[in-house]
Amino acid sequence: MSDITIIGLGAMGSALASAYLAKGMEVTVWNRSAERAAPLVAKGARLAENAAGAIDASTLILVSVLDYPAVRDILRPAAAHLEGRTLVNVTNGTPDQAREMAAWAQSRGAAYVDGAVMVTPELVSGPEAFLLYSGNSAAYHRQEATLAVLGSSTYVGEDPALASVYDLSLLSAMFGMFGGYLHAAALVRSEGIPAAEVTPMIMSLLNAMIELFPETAREIDSGEHPTPSSNNAMMATALRNVLDGSREQRVSTALMEPIWALFDRASKEGLGDRDISALVPLIYSPDGARA
Ligand code: NAP
Repeated sequence: MSDITIIGLGAMGSALASAYLAKGMEVTVWNRSAERAAPLVAKGARLAENAAGAIDASTLILVSVLDYPAVRDILRPAAAHLEGRTLVNVTNGTPDQAREMAAWAQSRGAAYVDGAVMVTPELVSGPEAFLLYSGNSAAYHRQEATLAVLGSSTYVGEDPALASVYDLSLLSAMFGMFGGYLHAAALVRSEGIPAAEVTPMIMSLLNAMIELFPETAREIDSGEHPTPSSNNAMMATALRNVLDGSREQRVSTALMEPIWALFDRASKEGLGDRDISALVPLIYSPDGARA
């Protein structure tokens, strides 16, 4: 038996397998396209013939493929082999997909832990690496030391969907930032200014803004939105200038328009003198998304 089986040897799966091999652990690997296993086999991994063989090789099975349909494609034909295994699925997906996969794995006799890797493959097992897990707590705690090889681990709860909720929340923050940055770069380039020139200024501004997040979070959670020095009405006007200025520069406004619309609506709904924390109920309220 190997110490761990890794199924899926894309950029992330290969990094996960490499981290275990670097620790001198016995690692069995499998990937739909077998050639991707070659660099890992050269480092000492055993290549299973098929997914069923990979599952047979270890009691701990770590899956990292593109999406949940790929996980299903791989595991369904090998379902009979899952009995007694711990299945840790760190494939990105939705809360419902995680719950459905947990129920399916449990019905096959496997203990299911859902997870998310919150860094790029290059950073796996390094000081910045962190991963989120949810699902079968007994199985998670049994495997905690092995999972810790990949980076610091946070177990967020028994509901298998929770790791996905946290993962998608963090990705929302990241992708929103990417969208803003890409628009910013396009805007300066419309005037022939290199992105490299404005980037340190953007980083400085974002770093200062991020410092405000803990206080914003307190306001969101308490529902108390004090009158701030930077209010929503002022920001709606500034965002209108971002849209108008972008159009003047022939830069697409597609990324920024939904953000302006949110601030504009807040102003029209009497939240113009409030802080950005007052916008969250416009995006989500328990009776359904509103924005
Ligand atoms: P990737 O390099 O594109 O690899 C995709 C993997 O999925 C390959 O092993 C591929 O197999 C497999 N696959 C896709 N469709 C399949 C199917 N129908 N049946 C069987 N295997 C299938 O992607 P990655 O970067 O490794 O990402 C893996 C997971 O990690 C994703 O859920 C991603 O969101 C997550 N993640 C990635 C990063 C990152 O920066 N890369 C960071 C955090 C989380 P083949 O080799 O046969 O095509």
